[in-house]
Amino acid sequence: MTTQDQQASTDEWIKSTCAYCGVGCGIEAKTETDGTLSIRGDESHPANYGKLCSKGLALGDTVGSEGRLLEPSIDGKAVSWPTAIDHVADQLSDIIQKHGPDSVALYVSGQLLTEDYYVANKLIKGAIGSGNIDTNSRLCMSSSVAGHKRAFGTDTVPNCYEDLECADLVVLVGSNLAWCHPVLYQRLKAAKAQNPNCRVVVVDPRATDTCDIADLHLAINPGSDVLLFNGLLAYLAQEKHLNNDYINAYTEGFDAAIKTAMDDAGTSSDNPVDWLHLSRITGLPIAYIETFYQWFANTDKTLSVYSQGVNQSSAGTDKVNSIINCHLATGRIGREGCGPFSITGQPNAMGGREVGGLANMLACHMDFGNDEHHNIVKNFWQSENLATKPGLKAVDLFDAVDEGKIKAIWIMATNPVVSMPDADKVKAALEKCPLVVVSDCIADTDTTRCANVLLPAMGWSEKSGTVTNSERRISRQRQLIASTGLAKPDWWIMSQVALRMNYSGFNFTSAADVFREYAEMTGISNNGTRDLDISVLANINDDAYEQLKPQQWPLSSIDTGVTQKRFFAEGGFYTPSKKGQLIAVQHRQPMSQVSAQYPMVLNSGRIRDQWHTMTRTGLAPKLGGHKIEPYLQINPQDARCFHLKEGDIAELSSQWGQARARVSISTDMNPGQVFMPMHWTGVEASDGRVCSLISPDVDPVSGQPELKFTPVAIKPWQYQQEAIVITKEPLDTHGVDYWVHRTIQNGHCYLLASQNTETSLKDQLLSKGLFANDGNSITFDNPNTLSYRSAKTFNGELHSACIIAPKISASDYAWLDTLLSQELSVEIQRSILSGQASASLLTGKQICACKQVGELTIIDAIKNEHCQTAEAVGQCTEAGTGCGSCIPEINQLIDSHGVQLMAVAE
Ligand code: SF4
Repeated sequence: MTTQDQQASTDEWIKSTCAYCGVGCGIEAKTETDGTLSIRGDESHPANYGKLCSKGLALGDTVGSEGRLLEPSIDGKAVSWPTAIDHVADQLSDIIQKHGPDSVALYVSGQLLTEDYYVANKLIKGAIGSGNIDTNSRLCMSSSVAGHKRAFGTDTVPNCYEDLECADLVVLVGSNLAWCHPVLYQRLKAAKAQNPNCRVVVVDPRATDTCDIADLHLAINPGSDVLLFNGLLAYLAQEKHLNNDYINAYTEGFDAAIKTAMDDAGTSSDNPVDWLHLSRITGLPIAYIETFYQWFANTDKTLSVYSQGVNQSSAGTDKVNSIINCHLATGRIGREGCGPFSITGQPNAMGGREVGGLANMLACHMDFGNDEHHNIVKNFWQSENLATKPGLKAVDLFDAVDEGKIKAIWIMATNPVVSMPDADKVKAALEKCPLVVVSDCIADTDTTRCANVLLPAMGWSEKSGTVTNSERRISRQRQLIASTGLAKPDWWIMSQVALRMNYSGFNFTSAADVFREYAEMTGISNNGTRDLDISVLANINDDAYEQLKPQQWPLSSIDTGVTQKRFFAEGGFYTPSKKGQLIAVQHRQPMSQVSAQYPMVLNSGRIRDQWHTMTRTGLAPKLGGHKIEPYLQINPQDARCFHLKEGDIAELSSQWGQARARVSISTDMNPGQVFMPMHWTGVEASDGRVCSLISPDVDPVSGQPELKFTPVAIKPWQYQQEAIVITKEPLDTHGVDYWVHRTIQNGHCYLLASQNTETSLKDQLLSKGLFANDGNSITFDNPNTLSYRSAKTFNGELHSACIIAPKISASDYAWLDTLLSQELSVEIQRSILSGQASASLLTGKQICACKQVGELTIIDAIKNEHCQTAEAVGQCTEAGTGCGSCIPEINQLIDSHGVQLMAVAE
């Protein structure tokens, strides 16, 4: 039995890595005697030093067996592993024989471990002989990869997290760090508090919680980032802030890049840039642009941190290079507190990039089209059949499925029917694909519903391997609990299929075995010619692998643990000339433009407490209370224009599809733009899949989709009645016009709305057997006002309850969330029947997920306990004392309610 197969003992804390974002926080987990998993931050991990965000802290709530895919199946029938392996191998072999290697594809995920990714890449490129492997990281940061390769010659992230603490100016571009990488946000916030010279600039069309620490917020027009940074480059040149020594010694392409930047920015003999032109295109006040440029020009330790707001664009690669250009031209790279720093979205996007999980990479930072690299990989894998050209990138790959060119697709640990742009087309493509194999740990997802073959994979807490975070740090994910059902590691499943297809080189016996081969490959004929080299780990034994501490690559000595924290302070680029490349890039409009038919720009993104398509975070009740349903954030001016009020349901349509979402009116959005989160699926909501709407336009270099700019139309969706239902049993929502589900303590909560004038929501629910008047229910029913309220008890406990009315504000009923886990009382029954919570139940909508503190509790502390700082609110209510991600929202409440208090006092 390998260590991987051993279950954790109950009295030790085991170190592992968080399942979610690219920060890659270290966690410690302990299995309690009642079987639950306790989680705390790992104080020794250099990514987070013990801190975790709300998602990380709730990891223990997501590891139950509920909803897990337990056994292999073919066409819905359970089969044994050997049968499933034989079937997949036979089908793939048959299709390859008839239609060639490019008729099959793998679509994988940043949730896979590096070992899984390595085997996937070896299988498709080395054994099958096709480049058709792409990953959901294409949707996340492939523009950064492309930008790095153009500028540095390879996909190097030149920075480390420490730079957040060393910088005097941090420019956050297209990054809602507070919600998407909360622990890095906390590190930056703490650093800023320590360093009076530290300034933060946020470049983002929306005012997000990240702006809580911003000295300057540039609410830039979507898609105009290249012009902003071209203007900056021109300004730096004209105002003599370039580092000519660095440019001359270590770079190429400066003349072309500066000429294009100056042309773009309208530089003249009188002005470094045409301020009016910049202001018109970016939508920013001239004074703001000038302040940003002056700060950048005069701050040596400048760090530009960028994320999906830069990458997810049809000009994503150019945006990345426009930022890198400014750092190369000032020599602000590779030194403490300096550099262009791409922060990845996923836990192992970087690991996937390392082994070659993207269609346009060969393996281990080696490239297609490079004969030397081809021969290294061919010889190392002893491949007769190594792919010679890049495969199809995600959008093209699913188009090829739609067109019937790809006849077999194997999807692992991802949910493209929800997350791909033009998602309805992806769904239709999978439904007609002859062979769809899905390996997942979750049974029911939008994508597993399209599968012919389902293979149960181990999930986080069960599987074992490595992940790499955004600062190139490799950390172990360790097995914490026994696997569920017949689940197996992804590397094992693929290896078995490969062996059954008679491919050699797949006799891996453990994750450590795979890792050793991967580590060895990084060193073959390397000699410093490639940035990625961890070959000192190639011979570690199983115990050393088990004990492996977080390691940044490149790693030169296993004994000393010496790593290279930063790159390129003194050149050393990986281009043929060894020089960094400034790339001439020009501002261009997003591909799809607003029109009379689709007048608004839709932006999409993450929310604070959910992860991707909610298959894991959706299981944790405490993560579901902050944002309870798909919502449309819209400026008040636009809301008026489209006849929308707060709490209405809006219907959105684009050239590609439809969605519906609850209206949330906010001046955080600029007029003309709306925002909708990316997380809701067809399993959790009737119409909440934002990617149904989203344009399949892609960046021409990286192939990354334009997930943050889709022209849409908006109108109110009228309904007769709506309802909130809490129940211990899942509710059959079939036939209900609008519904959203979430998990609450001991049960489920549904928000429902119906247009049906013939059958009331009450009758629809009663027809499903809920709230039947069987003697255990108490009800209030007023057909004249379309109001109905009911509470059903079973064995002396509340089993279900509902509130039905023509219009409901769900946040007024946040108190319902806790009722299924409370002892039944007259007070609870009275509150349900009256639709009015008693004072002791009222907490208001959730603000703090970690400590489960509601808005009303916080407002009460502000008003009645005179708490005028987030710290004081924390002391009084505990809100904000967990991960701290809710502190910006607490500050907003203090601004609203504290100021009122003072005004009254005056
Ligand atoms: Fe996990 Fe949060 Fe850390 Fe990201 S910031 S790795 S989600 S704990």
